[in-house]
Amino acid sequence: MKEIKVYQCEYCKKLFRTPNRHVCKFNPKFRNCHSCKFCRGFTDEDYIGGVDVGVGTIPTNMLYPICMKDCGDYSALEICEMGYNLNCSEYPLAYCI
Ligand SMILES: [Zn+2]
Repeated sequence: MKEIKVYQCEYCKKLFRTPNRHVCKFNPKFRNCHSCKFCRGFTDEDYIGGVDVGVGTIPTNMLYPICMKDCGDYSALEICEMGYNLNCSEYPLAYCI
């Protein structure tokens, strides 16, 4: 039996074997919807561009954040493609509340 060392992300609590490869979408320094207190989750709205695509058929990364400040228009996929770094001006720290 071999002992392995793991590292835990302080934001999402996932475990990793390397300490520096994980880019965490919940890292507050990115100021994105995932860790924002104004985000009420991601919508599973069944309309994209006015077309009914059916409930539950939208891939998770196409979902849009439900923002109480209505600040952004990025899908979860776009946030991911930006390296999670939205630097949103409405962003508060959700971790202290
Ligand atoms: Zn993480």
